Amino acid sequence: MAQRLFFSVPVPRVTQLALLRQQSALAQAGVRGRPVPAANFHLTLAFLGNVTASQKASLLERWAELVPPDLQLSLDTLHYWAKPGVLALGARRTPIALGQLASALQQDAAHHGLHASRQAFRPHITLFRGASALLPELPEQLEPPIILPCHSVELMLSENGPGGVEYHRLKHWA
Ligand code: ATP
Ligand code: MG
Repeated sequence: MAQRLFFSVPVPRVTQLALLRQQSALAQAGVRGRPVPAANFHLTLAFLGNVTASQKASLLERWAELVPPDLQLSLDTLHYWAKPGVLALGARRTPIALGQLASALQQDAAHHGLHASRQAFRPHITLFRGASALLPELPEQLEPPIILPCHSVELMLSENGPGGVEYHRLKHWA
């Protein structure tokens, strides 16, 4: 059976705590929606869609030597995407190495019959889903920014559990 997979950068505990504080501040400011649980915070590099067992095996072979980034991402803006009701923290500046890795993973996926991304890579961490369009007046820029150390990459499995979406780590590159 096919699995729903994506590549992401994990969020360390210290950054999870900063993101939780930001989530609370937004809820206090009047944001209504479903807060993403801290365990689910992640930065997607490439969404792959449904992947069969044999596609997964060749994917892992192609990326056996994946070199993870070694940088800090400064999350300094708030993004709201009305259609999915996503409120996320984004970055005004995408570090070149992060953008290159995301593009390489996305192009590889498209080239091998997996999900083809239509939009350019925009690093972000989702804090709320189903956020109502009746957003309070929010600052566009986050001061001070939240820093995400990016030193590893994971291949994640996304499944629907009883309490909502659950991610499971299939492989870790550090
Ligand atoms: P749910 O869809 O249950 O609300 P989710 O969006 O976190 O939860 P998935 O849909 O499995 O779970 O997505 C996993 C990751 O891939 C998320 O970061 C999501 O934003 C991203 N993603 C999902 N679909 C796409 C897509 N069509 N294009 C780009 N990224 C996607
Ligand atoms: Mg989704």
